[in-house]
Amino acid sequence: MKNSDNDEDDLKKERNVNKTKITLLRIIFMVLVVCIFALFGASLGIFMGIIESAPDIAGLELKPSTNYTSFIYDVNGNEIDRLSSGQERIYVTLDQIPDHLQKAIISIEDERFMEHNGIDIRGILRAIIVNLTTNQTEGASTITQQLIKNNILSPEQTITRKIQEQYLALQFEKIYDKDLILEYYLNTMALGHGTNGVQAASHRYFNKDVSELSLAESVVLAGITQAPTRYSPITNPENNNEKAKIILQKMIEQGYITEEERQVALAENPYDNIQTVNQQYVEESPHTYFVDAVIEDVLVDLQEKNAMTENEAKNYLFGGGVEIYTTFDPEIQNIVDTHMADDSLFPVNENEIKLDYRVSLHKPDGTVQHYNAVEMVKSVEEIDKFKEAKLVEWGATPEDTVDELLLQIPQPQAAFVIMDQSTGQVKALSGGRGDKIGDRTFNRATQAKRQPGSTFKIVAAYGPAIDMGILSPGSAIDNSKLSIEIPGQPDYSPRNWDGNYGGTITTRKAIWNSTNVPAVRTIQSVGFDASFNYLMNFGFTTLLPTDKVYALPLGGLTEGVTPLELTAAYAAIANGGTYIEPTLYTKILDRDGAVLIENIPTTHQVISASTATMLTDMMEDVVTGYGTGASLSRWFSGQPVAGKTGTTSDEKDLSFAGFTPYYTATVWLGHDDPQSLSGSNQNEHLHLWGEIMSDIHSGLEYKNFDKVTTGFVEASVCSVSGMLPTSLCRGAGAVTTDYFRTNHISDQYCTVHGQTKICTVSDMVAGPFCPPNVVTNKITQGASYGAVCNVHTQPPLPQTESIIPQLIPDSWFNEWPEPMVSEPEPEPQPEPQLAPEFVPPPVEFIPIPEINPNITIEIEEVPPPPEPGGIILEEQEPTADDQSIFFVPQG
Ligand SMILES: [Zn+2]
Ligand SMILES: [Zn+2]
Repeated sequence: MKNSDNDEDDLKKERNVNKTKITLLRIIFMVLVVCIFALFGASLGIFMGIIESAPDIAGLELKPSTNYTSFIYDVNGNEIDRLSSGQERIYVTLDQIPDHLQKAIISIEDERFMEHNGIDIRGILRAIIVNLTTNQTEGASTITQQLIKNNILSPEQTITRKIQEQYLALQFEKIYDKDLILEYYLNTMALGHGTNGVQAASHRYFNKDVSELSLAESVVLAGITQAPTRYSPITNPENNNEKAKIILQKMIEQGYITEEERQVALAENPYDNIQTVNQQYVEESPHTYFVDAVIEDVLVDLQEKNAMTENEAKNYLFGGGVEIYTTFDPEIQNIVDTHMADDSLFPVNENEIKLDYRVSLHKPDGTVQHYNAVEMVKSVEEIDKFKEAKLVEWGATPEDTVDELLLQIPQPQAAFVIMDQSTGQVKALSGGRGDKIGDRTFNRATQAKRQPGSTFKIVAAYGPAIDMGILSPGSAIDNSKLSIEIPGQPDYSPRNWDGNYGGTITTRKAIWNSTNVPAVRTIQSVGFDASFNYLMNFGFTTLLPTDKVYALPLGGLTEGVTPLELTAAYAAIANGGTYIEPTLYTKILDRDGAVLIENIPTTHQVISASTATMLTDMMEDVVTGYGTGASLSRWFSGQPVAGKTGTTSDEKDLSFAGFTPYYTATVWLGHDDPQSLSGSNQNEHLHLWGEIMSDIHSGLEYKNFDKVTTGFVEASVCSVSGMLPTSLCRGAGAVTTDYFRTNHISDQYCTVHGQTKICTVSDMVAGPFCPPNVVTNKITQGASYGAVCNVHTQPPLPQTESIIPQLIPDSWFNEWPEPMVSEPEPEPQPEPQLAPEFVPPPVEFIPIPEINPNITIEIEEVPPPPEPGGIILEEQEPTADDQSIFFVPQG
């Protein structure tokens, strides 16, 4: 019984155990189910969270918005340059992209693109199998996903981003059609060597518009995309070619091309052309000095006019796909460049060449070593020696392959700027001779601050003085030695280049002869503050308070001025006194073709039209006759020219600023590290200016300067006294005809020129005993013949007197103009010279009669001359803008 009980118990126990096991399993199962649900729920939650955190599709634009190449056009609207941030992108629409290029890219990137709804399930499954069964990694991004990845999401590879990408791909496919997605993609895809999109890549690799690409060229491009470096057709053409063949095979399989088309493509070798195009691209010079200057201007304007930060402006200019229409004239620039490259136009004995030698040595073991040296040589012949010495120094062996780049920067350097004075448009510029190294490098035309020398006399001294009514072209200025006391410094004594001092000199001659002393006396009368006001109005921005010194009109500045600003100042004179801010571009269009900036230059009147006319007239004398720029006529004579030379006293800078009725241009010549040009003939800059302007004006109709006739009169004065001339002044050859403000004409007749009876034997004042036949009337200046004849001190013997024939009628002794004894005709001179012994009245300028500033002298009011032909030839009424300047400086 016990046993059965035991059995029963055992059975019971067993049943209980089984029951427990089942319960446990059930619990485990339940827990598992709960866990799975929890995991699934959590996953779903996370997944939904990722999707929730994806950018809102409504605010997203699939069209790429940055890294568009910007374009620069010349004055004729032709493209001259492109700007990109190393990432070139040029937008094209789908109809401009050949079908075989579209299909080549679809076949390699996303063969079911036309069928899927944004994600490719078959592709994903295949990728999982490939990734699990091989050690290859394969992605399954559709074209839509890649477009989202490139344009919207950050590029990092995370599960989160992958999920968002797939989610967004499904969403975008609902609102964009396939063609638009493909168009955006083809304009976005990275194709190596800094190119984005098929158009930029087509230009970079084939130098062709994308619409012209053959099938063979298309598969080359399509082959790049999966690994732009490994499949680069430039550096790895074999890899690219393998890939291209695979793509052709896929295109056959997918029914896009026929076997015949493949054979044609295989027979074509696009790689040689790619190498040629690449070589051109590498050797292509960087942006020109003009484009560099445009870039600098636009960057400033985008900040000032469009409230961008410097960085925003830079990104916008180099990646915003803008179109900049410049004032650049390619024909004029070509002429400038041709002459700047002509070494025969530059001082040979001054010649130095700065060499920048860059070498890569490719060693037989595959390593590469890079070297660089910068040195000066004296002549072209020394260049080869220099290179050989460097290669030896760097340990080059005959087994090495040498990649070299040699840049030559000749010295002295030069700069040239040419503007149309009527519009302010800069037509061309050159920032230097020789090789241009890199972009946005030092631009001698727009950035170099150099000493303007005597070109500054016009804008700092004579222009203001004439405009303020202090001087007229015919005014006589004291040219005697000058010594100005400056507290705490040695006295300032300007020196005349020709060593001639003393007497007076007209404003006109002081300009054409570039005499320094009168210019310094003029700035004393004008005053530094007034002069500075004019200089600011002439557009100079680089002057400093320390430039308010007596050397200011001589161009002795603390820092200097740029050739561009000097050109603009002279252009204001050429433009009748109205300054126009120099412009390099006229407008900027944004990527959609809307006007972003209309670049209308600011203008203002600096000097009156009559001042401009008088300055122009005087500066015409600089380049003719005995003027300091007279040699210019040897190289350019086709149009009237007015201008001013500028040579600094130490001959470190040679400048000429001048204009024709068409253009205003400035040339500068000097060493980058300033040093004397005394070994040159000092005319090279005039030669350069003349040659360039001669070519530029060739074929242009002859024009006269547009001068006004009001605000001044033409009058003849005694050039010594500055007073109304008498026959004696005329007899002394001391009458000059020039332009005057009417209040600068004296109402007094010359008191300096007189006449005295002179004994020709002693050359002294004739005494009572000098025989009449040796006595002559002589025109004198002041009282130079003081003493009485000391030869004829006694009455002549009667018999002597009787045998001397009466050769000269008595009346001749009393009358002018006939000379008593023939005197040598005065030598024809460019301008009457003063007798050296004459000491002018101790005044800075000629005495000017005190008159009411508001009264204009009418011709009737001028006293009649003692004999005809004396004075005012022509009277012009002053204009309203001249009225204000009719004042007489007091003291
Ligand atoms: Zn006189
Ligand atoms: Zn005598």
